[in-house]
Amino acid sequence: MTVTTTAPYLDPTLGVAERVEDLLGRMTVAEKIGQMLQLDARDDLDDHVLRRHVGSVLHTSPERVLRAHDLTAQTRLGIPLLIAEDCIHGHSFFEGATIFPTQLGMAATWDPALLEKVARATAVEVAATGIHWTFSPVLCITRDLRWGRVNETFGEDPHLIGELASAMVRGYQGDGLDDPTAILASAKHFAGYSETQGGRDASEADLSRRKLRSWFLPPFERVAREGCRTFMLGYQSIDGVPITVNDWLLNDVLRGEWGYTGTLITDWDNVGRMVWEQRVQPDYAHAAAAAVRAGNDMIMTTPGFYEGALEAVEGGLLEEDAFDEAVRRILTLKVELGLFEDPRRPSTERIDAVLGTHGDLNLEVARRSVVLLENDGVLPLAGGVTAGADGRGVAEAGTRPARVAVVGPLADDAQTQLGDWAGSSGQAGWIPDGHPRSMITTVLDGLRDHVPADWTVTYEQGAEILTLEPHPDGERFPDGQPRPPVVLSAPADDAAIARAVDAAREADYVVAVVGDRIELVGEGRSTATLELLGGQVALLEALAATGTPMIVVLLASKPLVLPAAALEASALLWVANPGMAGGRAIAEVVLGLVEPSGRLPLSFARHVGQQPTYYNQVRGQHGDRYADLTQRPAFAFGQGLSYTTVEYRDLQVLEPTLGVADVLQAEVTVTNTGSRPARETVQVYVSDSITSVSWADQELKTFLQVELAPGEERRVRIELPVSACTIVDAAGARVVEPGEFELRVGGSSRAEDQVRAGFVVVG
Ligand code: BGC
Repeated sequence: MTVTTTAPYLDPTLGVAERVEDLLGRMTVAEKIGQMLQLDARDDLDDHVLRRHVGSVLHTSPERVLRAHDLTAQTRLGIPLLIAEDCIHGHSFFEGATIFPTQLGMAATWDPALLEKVARATAVEVAATGIHWTFSPVLCITRDLRWGRVNETFGEDPHLIGELASAMVRGYQGDGLDDPTAILASAKHFAGYSETQGGRDASEADLSRRKLRSWFLPPFERVAREGCRTFMLGYQSIDGVPITVNDWLLNDVLRGEWGYTGTLITDWDNVGRMVWEQRVQPDYAHAAAAAVRAGNDMIMTTPGFYEGALEAVEGGLLEEDAFDEAVRRILTLKVELGLFEDPRRPSTERIDAVLGTHGDLNLEVARRSVVLLENDGVLPLAGGVTAGADGRGVAEAGTRPARVAVVGPLADDAQTQLGDWAGSSGQAGWIPDGHPRSMITTVLDGLRDHVPADWTVTYEQGAEILTLEPHPDGERFPDGQPRPPVVLSAPADDAAIARAVDAAREADYVVAVVGDRIELVGEGRSTATLELLGGQVALLEALAATGTPMIVVLLASKPLVLPAAALEASALLWVANPGMAGGRAIAEVVLGLVEPSGRLPLSFARHVGQQPTYYNQVRGQHGDRYADLTQRPAFAFGQGLSYTTVEYRDLQVLEPTLGVADVLQAEVTVTNTGSRPARETVQVYVSDSITSVSWADQELKTFLQVELAPGEERRVRIELPVSACTIVDAAGARVVEPGEFELRVGGSSRAEDQVRAGFVVVG
């Protein structure tokens, strides 16, 4: 080891840029190339660090973090590693960490401040374990529900996505990178990855530049302004150009127009895939050269980038200084994080103090993520119970104890409830059994724990969802990555259904928990269908036929197409995978211990053939019906019921003629007309009456939440900068076009839930 402590780059009293330049000046070309590499810590760590000089590793089990640091200490310059992990709804793969609802579940809260707290709590847990960088949040827009990664998104609306993602970025990055609990956030997957064809994961994205600018880029621009320190690219190609080498998007737009100075990381082996999968580069030297020229800073899991880039320099494809910009950015992160002084090794003490300690916050998020979609009055059960001293419900005096049959394959499936990127979901192998069962409450646990002491709760599984078969092309892709097995819908089990039916007959209520499983969720796991698989539909139909009031809990990674038995049930709730506290939260809502307040962050289709079903569709011609079906979604963006009713009236734009630089001021009266409290999400949409090019009929522009006691009436103030009332014109410019507009305010994106008032923008 030849490092002397006097080297300027090791001197914390010097400025960041000075230290970085000093270090850069000492590095060989090979060391610079290695610095740009992030490799999988589950492979040969010694080789990564000692031979390829990697700058970062990901998927590090706690033991491997320590080993990686020890290896780094043996290197010539002792440059600390950036340790990265996908901690996207909690510290995914650290046993015993707090696992929050999936991003989609969190989105149903429509509460940026709450999500900021989640990200902060996650950062505190993550930082304690020696990780510096999370690959979160996901800013992809869900439009095709068949896509396997819907659960990782904030849903379908660019404004909502931008607000929630920014909140998470603030939470992760905290008050500054020198805070030992701050971790780097990563906005992904830049940009348009979700616009897959037929919902197929990582297929070519059919996106014009104008379409990108209209809907897919704004959330990213929002978090770039928020100071999100890193951006991750995606797997998509647009117009034939893989995003990894998309000069227009990376340089003209991101670095140029937006002035983004953060660090870019590719997605998994994007550089290698250009060679072996997409075949748009003849070899690794050319692929490496193209990726460097396009402005990528860090290359994820393409070991061959190292040799390829060296060869590119030798062969004259790249100049020796071609890596400097990227390395400068990576080193800057490391200096700002203070890693040269303290590599932030995992701390047993900190881990013991903070891991898994955010249960209260988690419960709050889970409660708020529950979306009530139908209710004929059956909920809350028995008119609602109140909380007793021990947290258990207490029914109104004199009421007969109720009998609740809990049924369904997901009523007591703890690990499935956590969703993707958690525990045993498959991306990291070191906790095959998932998170501790004792930390998770299933719906069955939640009901058993919270029904009044004299009620009875019975349980029958009733159905299986799926079975698996090995993939016909083999268990691994050519690059050695596991190929997801083939999912087969499980046959209905008549005997299991009969037992469930008996339980329902003997009960006052049946709570049926149905949905999807991890095998139907995630990368390479898009689904051709959206129906409930296995014996679930038969189970619901049989339960419906008993006549016992049925509450259907759809515990699903994404909106599914529901059978009549679910749509016509006494009540229907949707919870995306709601995390460790999900079962308790659902039970509390069902019992009326907590009011339902979640709102849909994306629309539900009636049929898989309705894809895509998002609310902000562009106005077209020939109406909005299929010959054989409406195009209206089953449940639309923004929908969600309370246990009370809320009315909107008297929307008034205070000064209805405005200039582009003005802020629109409006007021609306919102009244809780029922007998229970409400947390109402006041949604503000704008419709531009005439646009120079085709445009969405309405778009969400802002929202706020108000709490209303029974009978309470509130005059709610809305403020909206006119500069937000834009469209993207034919030339691709985002502009406010003067003319008539309509402000639409209400409880959802549905016309029948909104009140409207006009305003005019003068040029
Ligand atoms: C996913 C990313 C993830 C990365 C690292 C990729 O396959 O698309 O979202 O961050 O793997 O695990």
